[in-house]
Amino acid sequence: MDSMTLLETHDLTRHFDGIRAVDGVDLSLRQGEIHALIGPNGAGKTTLVSLLSGRIRAQSGRILFQGRDITAMPAHRRVRLGIAYTFQITQIYRALTVFDNVALAVQWQRPANAAAMVMEALERVGLQAERDAIAGTLSYGHQRLLELAMGLALNPRLLILDEPTQGLAESEIARFDAIVRSVVPQATVLLIEHNMDVVMRLAQRITVLDLGRVLATGTPEEIRANRAVQAAYLGE
Ligand code: ATP
Repeated sequence: MDSMTLLETHDLTRHFDGIRAVDGVDLSLRQGEIHALIGPNGAGKTTLVSLLSGRIRAQSGRILFQGRDITAMPAHRRVRLGIAYTFQITQIYRALTVFDNVALAVQWQRPANAAAMVMEALERVGLQAERDAIAGTLSYGHQRLLELAMGLALNPRLLILDEPTQGLAESEIARFDAIVRSVVPQATVLLIEHNMDVVMRLAQRITVLDLGRVLATGTPEEIRANRAVQAAYLGE
């Protein structure tokens, strides 16, 4: 692993009752990049990021984070190392205020300046004026921004976003773009995304999964030009 690499997997495999959800995947994420993970429904994207976050375990293969083997590490310890996984796992507490939701996300760090950290995360997503609003009363788009603030407040080295723009209006997606760009190059973003406009706009590199295997990895231009990807996914 060279110094540019933040995370890599080797031959990572997870089957479910004979379904090869993730089947021998080698993935490499560089420090400070926005890396998109795309592929048809059922390709194994959510299973792969669940393996990275520690929500589920691999049957074989390895995961290295900053050169350290984290394959068997529990999820909460991966959060401490700086791996934040948001959207499909993060649930907001609808009865609590916006502020208290983010405060709960950071509390395990027992920071001396928790209130300042919470406000900084809310400012980054533009929700500071809603700090005292009850989370369940926010619009759908604002709830998703709140989830993003909860991930950002952890100050992650790797921020994994699982279909973050799903259900957002175009104006909200533009705001989301700017927030994701603000995360790099200090941190790395792994973005699972079906919206190809968002992927092509934001990602420096893209990995395409199909039937649990890596079909291709490359720049947006390389992926667009890749015939196997076109046949399996892009439908061009
Ligand atoms: P989508 O884009 O639809 O979210 P995905 O690329 O995230 O799809 P996964 O959700 O990882 O794909 O699913 C990969 C395969 O593994 C699918 O065939 C799915 O049905 C199967 N699978 C995922 N989780 C489980 C599970 N807990 N038990 C059984 N099969 C599962």
